[in-house]
Amino acid sequence: MARPSHMLVDLAALINNYQWACQLAPHAQTMAVVKANAYGHGMVACATALQAYAPALAVACIEEALALREAGIHKPILLLEGTFTADEVAVAAAQDFWLMVENPKQVQAILNAQVCKPVTVWIKVDSGMHRLGFNPQQVQAYYPQLLASPNVAEDMVFATHFASADETSNNFTRLQVQQFMTTAKRFKHPVSLANSAAIMAWPEAHGDWNRAGFMLYGNSPLDTDHASSDGLLPVMQLWSGIISVRQIDVGESVGYGQQWRAQRPSVIATVAMGYGDGYPRNAASGTPVLVNGQRAHIVGRVSMDMITVDVTDLNETQIGDPVCLWGPGLNINEVAHHAGTIGYELMTRITQRLPIRYTH
Ligand SMILES: *Cc1c(COP(=O)(O)O)cnc(C)c1O
Repeated sequence: MARPSHMLVDLAALINNYQWACQLAPHAQTMAVVKANAYGHGMVACATALQAYAPALAVACIEEALALREAGIHKPILLLEGTFTADEVAVAAAQDFWLMVENPKQVQAILNAQVCKPVTVWIKVDSGMHRLGFNPQQVQAYYPQLLASPNVAEDMVFATHFASADETSNNFTRLQVQQFMTTAKRFKHPVSLANSAAIMAWPEAHGDWNRAGFMLYGNSPLDTDHASSDGLLPVMQLWSGIISVRQIDVGESVGYGQQWRAQRPSVIATVAMGYGDGYPRNAASGTPVLVNGQRAHIVGRVSMDMITVDVTDLNETQIGDPVCLWGPGLNINEVAHHAGTIGYELMTRITQRLPIRYTH
């Protein structure tokens, strides 16, 4: 009794990938980024597995960090965007959350806070992405104030973030490294630059702390094949099953809007997975799926609860046969490409309806 649709999360693969990230940058400490529900994989389960290995975790906001504390995660947690309101500073200090500081208002909040102990501050430098962070003049202005404040712990870190590290032949990453280091080297603090793409493709960006996200979940963010992805194992497997099979004639259509028509007598299998589960509605006819481990393709529109697949060329397909939407043998990046998006988005938009099963 159950709809066959579920997400399988391989926690052993997660740990393998974390260790691979560490191996690629042996002189850096690697924090595990588990924001956005661990990129859709279940934040508490992933953080619980990772905290035995990672010296620190990272999330996007204090709500995520507090949920981790409530679940018994005891490692330091970096808030990648720092505080959103001033009252978060005291909570961060008490809970051992590290604060990214990237704008003047956040500096003021730290200087004015009543804290039980000094808070660890990461100063975010805008080295060219122009989304968050201080320019070099602002760093000169605010760093001395933070340094002098009794609210700020001594172990400050200087950090930046890359715009295009996934593009392995885009020299902008090198420019950002130079820009950042010019500012950061005036201050004798540890540095943090690299996200997954930079860990994998830009060794010159390996700092004292690296921030690994997407790669932990077992896929490469890079735009080209690269040896640095050889050690990654996919963590998320999206599974469902065949719930109906039918034969249709030449010229007959499949699904909403009759968007796809058979060019030959065809066998159509219906799979219990749709955009209500987070499968992308944009996945066009031709998007690959694995039916009984064999490649087949979506035909017609993705609907809320189902997709339709052309299984004409496969050996007999039956109700109950397993279908893998992505996982080992079918890379999420390939599916994302057919849907006009990236693996990051597909992972994070899986919905609550889909049960998660964990394997260790
Ligand atoms: C999300 C995030 C990361 C992790 O990026 P990946 O590409 O998933 O490795 C690193 N640093 C910051 C500031 C982030 O927001």
